[in-house]
Amino acid sequence: MKILITGGAGFIGSAVVRRAIADGHQVVNLDALTYSANLENVEGVASNPGYAFEHVDICDRAAVERVFATHQPDAVMHLAAESHNDRAIEGPLDFVKSNILGTAILLEVARAYWLKLEGAKKDDFRFHHISTDEVFGALGEDGDFTEETPYDPRSPYSASKASSDHLVRAWGHTYKFPVVITNCSNNYGPYQFPEKLIPTVITRALEGKTIPVYGDGRQVRDWLHVDDHAEALLLVLSKGKLGETYCIGGDATKRNLEVIKIICAHLDKMAPANTSHAEKITFVTDRPGHDFRYSIDASKLERELGWTARMPLDAGLEDTVRWYVDNYAWVEGIRQRGFDSERLGLVKA
Ligand code: NAD
Repeated sequence: MKILITGGAGFIGSAVVRRAIADGHQVVNLDALTYSANLENVEGVASNPGYAFEHVDICDRAAVERVFATHQPDAVMHLAAESHNDRAIEGPLDFVKSNILGTAILLEVARAYWLKLEGAKKDDFRFHHISTDEVFGALGEDGDFTEETPYDPRSPYSASKASSDHLVRAWGHTYKFPVVITNCSNNYGPYQFPEKLIPTVITRALEGKTIPVYGDGRQVRDWLHVDDHAEALLLVLSKGKLGETYCIGGDATKRNLEVIKIICAHLDKMAPANTSHAEKITFVTDRPGHDFRYSIDASKLERELGWTARMPLDAGLEDTVRWYVDNYAWVEGIRQRGFDSERLGLVKA
């Protein structure tokens, strides 16, 4: 199948691109190449005859129309988005533009394209929207998010993603446009831009800097390895039921501070410093409105499509630390572009 993947130069999108090509699909990678994009993430597949790249912003309707007309995709996997909570606190309008307006434009262009298709190409077409569990808000000490959990986004980022989910559902309901939605937990793994928790900890430790912990570090997240996620997404694309939502999680919840300590222990072995890396842990002001706990019940995906996460968290963290140690040149390239991992997202009075 020929899949149009938006955001394919980012962290999760590039994992999906690599996996889709490995599975024998053709891929059109549409990406605006914002600060978090990196074409090195897809270097390994760039010369594959089934791969094409389009440097396009999803907010540019004419350019998106040209991409559909040129490549005639069989399906869309929509991952392009502004994705970092701390940046959303500082500049929410970029999130409103790309995540809400951009999704609406993509839906409209895709729908007009789909309406003109015929036969099996029309019947089999689908639009897969990739979203986050953060749309459900925050949990207390127990309970899990499921597909039935009411929406309760609390941050500019999660509100923009919730809006995009509503748009996709509305297009499905109103226009009978063939959509499917997934909401996943926190991803980790290779090629993640060093501003999210896990790569920030690893890269700052490797650079001998302090390791910031927001608040008391007791927040709980469910961690999903990006390769497990890519596998789940391609399964939902091919076998998921139209109009349905699937939650995707790693079945691996942990407090942030525990995750940081595990990473430090791996770094002590792989990149020893004079003292244990854990001594660099520094508690800093919490993120404004920081959600306390996320946890996903992914049993619908397991029951209906037979998918479960395969990578245990400890092994996944060890592999991820190893990847950043071995591929530090990838981080250096980002540093040379001026991204220094300093604190973002504090509300200024
Ligand atoms: P990322 O920031 O690494 O990548 C986003 C990609 O989208 C970048 O390559 C960027 O250039 C591109 N992009 C942004 N705005 C664009 C626009 N207007 N037009 C075209 N391209 C644009 O993000 P990620 O972590 O890979 O996240 C991918 C998707 O998964 C997002 O939709 C995000 O909301 C969702 N998600 C991520 C996580 C996570 O843990 N990272 C968890 C749940 C859901």
